Amino acid sequence: MSSYLFKNARIVDGSATEPTEPMQVLVEHGHIREVSREVTASAEEIIDLSGKVLMPGLIDCHVHTIAVLASLARNAELPDSLVTARASLVMRGMLMRGFTTVRDVGGADIGLKRSVEEGIFLAPRLIISGKALSQTGGHCDFRGRYDTRPPIRSGFPLGALGRLCDGVPEVRRAAREEIKGGADFVKIMASGGAGSPTDPIHFFGFSREELSAIVEEAQSAGTYVSAHLYTDPAIRRCVEAGVHSLEHCNLIEPETARFAASQGAVAVPTLVTYEALAKEGAGYGYPAEAVAKVEDVRVAGMKSLAIMKEAGLPMAYGSDLLAEMHRHQSEEFVIRGRVLPAHEVIASATSVAAKLCRLEGKIGTIAPGAFADLIVVDGNPLDDLSLLTHQGRHMPLIMREGVIVKRESLN
Ligand code: ZN
Ligand code: ZN
Repeated sequence: MSSYLFKNARIVDGSATEPTEPMQVLVEHGHIREVSREVTASAEEIIDLSGKVLMPGLIDCHVHTIAVLASLARNAELPDSLVTARASLVMRGMLMRGFTTVRDVGGADIGLKRSVEEGIFLAPRLIISGKALSQTGGHCDFRGRYDTRPPIRSGFPLGALGRLCDGVPEVRRAAREEIKGGADFVKIMASGGAGSPTDPIHFFGFSREELSAIVEEAQSAGTYVSAHLYTDPAIRRCVEAGVHSLEHCNLIEPETARFAASQGAVAVPTLVTYEALAKEGAGYGYPAEAVAKVEDVRVAGMKSLAIMKEAGLPMAYGSDLLAEMHRHQSEEFVIRGRVLPAHEVIASATSVAAKLCRLEGKIGTIAPGAFADLIVVDGNPLDDLSLLTHQGRHMPLIMREGVIVKRESLN
């Protein structure tokens, strides 16, 4: 079937505090053709959404589709075939939670992206960074203190989050290689992290010269840099170097948030992962030292939301979960809803995220010309964000690019 008419669709897209009046939405050949009070064109199937809400498919701007084990060091030791097979299930889970586009910020390669485009896996559309760039001893260096073996310099396993590079010529080459390999943007590790063994949270990743070189390479390819970072000084120096997408940002202060906003940067908080790691991480093999490091950023994270809102810094939706913990992906909506208005939380996974994915007008919106990525919600998420949780339980219909991938009775 290639055309559908959704009737009596009250639309929620994060742009307003109430659903729209009932609208008619015409879908043809994978795209939205018309949205109006009355559609005169006919369709092969008419779907009445009386009493339901229609939303654009959700967008998660911080995922690692290849993180099939909670221990990222062990994840990189798995054969590519096993990682591919398990990643397909991770991605299917995301789609069935209503996420029709995800931005992979470290790990997924062009082969995975192509597989999704060819329809081999039931999965969200993938926007990828390829391997994240990290300095020696940074957030992608999983060698312990006593491990002095040289890092891999090429031929990275699919399960590897990132790659190591040091010095301006090497970081340039690494950025160029990722872009050549199909990266849509460049991801870097610009501060210490929880899951890596030798970099406390307060460490910086890369020198200013290296940061500027990577930003220049990204800009030369018409794209931008996304940086993993936690502390306020790490965020400031990245924004000064021209980094656009600021991941996590748990320890951001008001002045830096205002500065980042003035530079047109976008933040991607990922609070749900700290909740999940604190509760379940150890049980799934996340190292005990790493669970302790999570505490350093978990509590501060909630304060960061109010700071960034106050500063006018846009926030896109992010989850950053690993392995079995992926099932918590939608709970970020509820966590943010404790601090932010519901429509703004929804916009983080629609309009704000679409812009960050550079697919404005194509995703995150129900408008003519956009991909027909749609979810039907039983109830109004503006009143109750938890309707978006529970593995899609309250989503009787999910459509990705005009194809219905989930359908239950709408009565
Ligand atoms: Zn990170
Ligand atoms: Zn991440």
